[in-house]
Amino acid sequence: MSLLPGQMMQLPLLISSLITHAARHSGDTEIVSKRVEGDLHRYTWAKAELRSRKLAQALARLGCQPGDRVGTLAWNGYRHLEIYYGTSGTGLVCHTVNPRLFPDQITWIINDAADKVLCFDLNLLPLVEKLAPACTTVKHFVLLGFREQLPPETAIPNLLAYEDLIAAEDGDLAWPTFDENTASSICYTSGTTGDPKGAVYSHRSTVLHSFGAALPDSMNISSRDVVLPVVPMFHVNAWGIPYSAAMIGCKLVFPGPHLDGKSLYDLFEAEQVTFSAGVPTVWLGLLNHVQANGLKFSSFKSTVIGGAACPASMIQTLEDDFNVEVVHAWGMTELSPLGTLSRLRSKHLGLSKAEQRALLAKQGKVIYGIDMQIVNADGQVQPWDGEASGDLLVRGHWVINSYFGKANAPLRDGWFPTGDVATIDADGFMLITDRSKDVIKSGGEWISSIALENLAVAHPAVHQAAVISVAHPQWGERPLLTVVLKPGATATREDLLAFYEGKIPRWQVPNDVIFLPELPHTATGKIQKLKLREAFRNHQWSEL
Ligand code: ADP
Repeated sequence: MSLLPGQMMQLPLLISSLITHAARHSGDTEIVSKRVEGDLHRYTWAKAELRSRKLAQALARLGCQPGDRVGTLAWNGYRHLEIYYGTSGTGLVCHTVNPRLFPDQITWIINDAADKVLCFDLNLLPLVEKLAPACTTVKHFVLLGFREQLPPETAIPNLLAYEDLIAAEDGDLAWPTFDENTASSICYTSGTTGDPKGAVYSHRSTVLHSFGAALPDSMNISSRDVVLPVVPMFHVNAWGIPYSAAMIGCKLVFPGPHLDGKSLYDLFEAEQVTFSAGVPTVWLGLLNHVQANGLKFSSFKSTVIGGAACPASMIQTLEDDFNVEVVHAWGMTELSPLGTLSRLRSKHLGLSKAEQRALLAKQGKVIYGIDMQIVNADGQVQPWDGEASGDLLVRGHWVINSYFGKANAPLRDGWFPTGDVATIDADGFMLITDRSKDVIKSGGEWISSIALENLAVAHPAVHQAAVISVAHPQWGERPLLTVVLKPGATATREDLLAFYEGKIPRWQVPNDVIFLPELPHTATGKIQKLKLREAFRNHQWSEL
């Protein structure tokens, strides 16, 4: 076969092109950050690009070579943004680490990635003092602040101040050109499923993901938006928002570590935020604050919620009471992270509100660039009928093909097994029914723990709910509902079980309810079902 070659330029898709575009075309657009210290820092994309170049020079002066990893323990803020660009831009690899992990896990991850430099926020100094001796590959520790903020005495070797590094450079650096398949950043999975594993993103995958994330049926952000990523920059690169925002040239607002309902609300209002993104848990805090104080949003229009199933009741409250459009999304660290988002198509506009809501509560349709299928235990592809469920497999331009430093490829015939169980309807709307290990298998039938949780949190007294599978002598496994009630609210076991009546088949109703003061959460805000399963492994069913 003789194919006719295309005759188009081939420019590598490099991350530096995003920030140079932002500096040139949206140079005066603001980036506002609430710092650890509590004050607001304001500058522009042009300034961010210049300081990123200075950082790149400083890192070279410290001896960093292309391919070296630069770790971060930092919240969402302008210096973290500069590290994103100042590292990747010259072929270094930005390795964001989650400061909320246990210290042992953090050192494990830093050592696994062999970070050469570790940059950290001021309020994480005590943590880094503890970790530093065990971080054997780190040659330089950099405090994200001024020299005056360095501690007079510290056990941290080679501690430098970020602002000193920047001040010593002139910014006279041209971003180099190299292969777009070069690694740009690394993010470790949060470890709800065993040892953390590193997903190594490339320049190409990151730039393509930025296009996909910004599309109208995706996050739908434009240069007129004011975007506040609540999702941390250490959690899958804040879902790619720092890259998409540069491509689009919108105003960015970073909340720092101040993620409680009041701080977020005040920042949303002060900076007139129009778009945000985060996991369901943070919206609970924000909603509690606005509801308790009778507040409204004056600019907030739309939010992407994902990372864990967003209960239909949360979507309803944000839309009906606050006029905020909710876009439910599904993704994973291994997918950079966006896979699917739920938005109505024109054919759905005639549906009843209830039917539309049911669709919007699903995890949604894939973005161009991602392909998905569901397969049964024998690997046979299942139909898209909204009924058949199976293991969800994906492939695409921003899906990993292997983990950092691991020889075993996780792929199955070229597809990445997500570990999620899903149905897909005829319109291509995917619904996650469970993670494969959270599924409840009762008398040979599967029960979706997510469906039971979503119903439970619709009860007015329930703040949070998690349903786990517990061994049962007759049925193999049965669902156990664990709940945290809202402050001051009361409900009995019987009230909560009766709430399921008429909403799902009787055999799916949980057998028992456990009331807890709080649910265990992972460092990224997800409920840790593994912990709950361990705690209630020997639960005695009251009725057999
Ligand atoms: P980890 O896999 O370590 O928890 P990730 O942040 O990559 O870290 O989590 C990805 C997983 O989170 C998905 O495989 C899925 O189980 C869950 N998840 C993400 N978004 C959603 C969603 N909208 N609904 C249900 N589950 C979700």
